Amino acid sequence: MNCYNHQTQPAVAQCTDCGKGLCGTCASLYQMPLCTSCNKSRITSERSGIIKEMLLTFGVGAVLAYFFFQWTNGGHSYPLLYNIISFVIPFYVFSGIIPGWKTLTRITPSVFLFLPIIGWVLFFIMKFALSVGYILA
Ligand SMILES: [Zn+2]
Ligand SMILES: [Zn+2]
Repeated sequence: MNCYNHQTQPAVAQCTDCGKGLCGTCASLYQMPLCTSCNKSRITSERSGIIKEMLLTFGVGAVLAYFFFQWTNGGHSYPLLYNIISFVIPFYVFSGIIPGWKTLTRITPSVFLFLPIIGWVLFFIMKFALSVGYILA
């Protein structure tokens, strides 16, 4: 078998995805032996995977934050700022759940995992401060 790109070169490897023959030069283009078209489709599916991941992440974040907001603020009328904060912080915190375990951990390592915890702490501090301020006002 000869290289798919260079018909005169003998193949030393095969594309991992489609099995086309690759010469030494072509086999070492990417991290693993891949032909150009398979590499492209891998990049495309990886990108759409990341986009899906982000949609899922922020979708989950928004839904959980909404229920959390209903649970904590339900039936009461608080000042607007209080409402904004008590939605934004859970949204931020809950949005950190999925990336913690999945793809985005590769891009944003360990630091990201700690942020949700800091978010929770900030949330309770601010909630407490605002409640006190609200009672005193
Ligand atoms: Zn291929
Ligand atoms: Zn080649």
